[in-house]
Amino acid sequence: MHVELHPRFQHTAEGKRGAELISACVHCGFCLATCPTYLDTPDERDSPRGRIYLIKTLLEEGQAGATSREHLDRCLTCRSCETTCPSGMRYGALADLGRGLLEKEAPRPLHQRSMRWLLRKVLTTPLLMVTALRVGQWLRPVLPATLRQRVPEQRPRSPVPPSHNRRLMLLLDGCVQSVVTPQTNDALRRVLDALGIDAEPAAGAACCGAVNYHLGAHDDGLDDMRRNIDAWWPAIEAGAEAIITSASGCGATVVEYGEYLAHDPRYAERAATVSGMARDIGEVLTKEDLSVLAATATARVALHTPCTLQHALGADGKVREILASAGFELTATCDDHLCCGSAGTYSILQRNRSLRLRARKLAALGGDRPDLIATANVGCQLHLQEACEQPVRHWIELLDPLPVD
Ligand code: SF4
Ligand code: SF4
Repeated sequence: MHVELHPRFQHTAEGKRGAELISACVHCGFCLATCPTYLDTPDERDSPRGRIYLIKTLLEEGQAGATSREHLDRCLTCRSCETTCPSGMRYGALADLGRGLLEKEAPRPLHQRSMRWLLRKVLTTPLLMVTALRVGQWLRPVLPATLRQRVPEQRPRSPVPPSHNRRLMLLLDGCVQSVVTPQTNDALRRVLDALGIDAEPAAGAACCGAVNYHLGAHDDGLDDMRRNIDAWWPAIEAGAEAIITSASGCGATVVEYGEYLAHDPRYAERAATVSGMARDIGEVLTKEDLSVLAATATARVALHTPCTLQHALGADGKVREILASAGFELTATCDDHLCCGSAGTYSILQRNRSLRLRARKLAALGGDRPDLIATANVGCQLHLQEACEQPVRHWIELLDPLPVD
């Protein structure tokens, strides 16, 4: 689609980038069939093609209202449409750009701005997050059932080995996962230690930037990325092999640092290096000899592949392969391409839509009666666990030589 830029956008980086991204769309509509929000509400404006049109209209008319912003808010940024699109449309990048523009063009009412500010601060500040979590866990026994299920139970932890291997990979602990499910990276460190690799977080590295960036606070998101690059750089120069992530949402962001910071002369080169070194833990393990891991598999596992793992990182097959070769029986599932409704802060900001998507996902995962559900992203894990009787775990915990429960 050709975009005739409004004079306001003709000489802006956003205008040129938006027109370039939209030009890939040939308006065929194939993406509608795999868009969870369009399947939920068959309104063209809640489809990828409709949202592309809304951003195109903003760039051509030089203005947009709250309705456009609301239809962008309803998008999960799951990128299922990218996997479907025969034309290579980079919808995720366009949605981020459109959201950034709409935050300025159609300012939110105060209560929405306050909520988003609070979410950004709490989720990206481990001290605030851990305080909120511990208070919730303390009150858990007296909370009404609907609230209680939203507070994750505290699980035990097992010790992680000290650094002693010759091989070193940098590990991104992230923000939410480091507080709510630290068992994931504990397990990852024990698994990699068994393979002769140290996985060490770098002092000063924290949130990957996705929380701020996807909530339209682009400058804060870019600052998160710059801070992580600064934190990792000494170890990169000292020979660290890779930067590994276990939360696929974080991995999908780190792998695009080079693109996010391409126009920053101070960081562009280092950001591109970081992107080239970013690896999801599944990708790391497929290149190692896993025969040294003791085979303990007994469970029947339903694998939920997060959107970021399949549509952004294209690494869903690797996890399936690893679990199957470790002896796990993977149960039959359906509609694997559809989002579970977690999608970062979507499960908080678009609660009702998120619950409908989760009900559909749990039915799709549970039909073959699994013993547990395995996933690859903390958001999906917590969201599914709220409404699921079986344990929901990060898949790396299934390979843990020292499982916690
Ligand atoms: S499938 Fe791709 S080219 Fe077709 S309408 Fe959707 S985004 Fe545009
Ligand atoms: S990212 Fe997901 S929810 Fe958003 S338009 Fe694409 S398929 Fe639909």
